[in-house]
Amino acid sequence: MSTWAEKNRYKTWKWKNENPEAYRAKIQRRVQKIKDYLNKYKVSAGCIDCGYNANPVALAFDHIRGEKTKRVSMMRTWRAARKEVEKCVVRCHNCHAIRHSLLVRSKFKVEEKKNGIAEG
Ligand SMILES: [Zn+2]
Repeated sequence: MSTWAEKNRYKTWKWKNENPEAYRAKIQRRVQKIKDYLNKYKVSAGCIDCGYNANPVALAFDHIRGEKTKRVSMMRTWRAARKEVEKCVVRCHNCHAIRHSLLVRSKFKVEEKKNGIAEG
């Protein structure tokens, strides 16, 4: 009665239950591969503002589109990782800090103007 996909899912589930250690190791390997891919992606893209690309540790995924569901670096599946990457630009930590402070400041200025503090 069961389809091939169902049988396959059961087999995976059974294997997972019988080999929890191996399953964990398998996930670990995949997470590591995704991390490697994301690091390579960051270095090849470089910072969108200043072009920095020397070290992936100093580069981050900055969400510019859509909702942030999870930190990109925490992604456990390829599909989820790619989906999040599509919502992001790569930006170095320096430019990220500068951009964030500008955003906060411009928001603050608007509020100052509204309250009539920033006149003149
Ligand atoms: Zn930068």
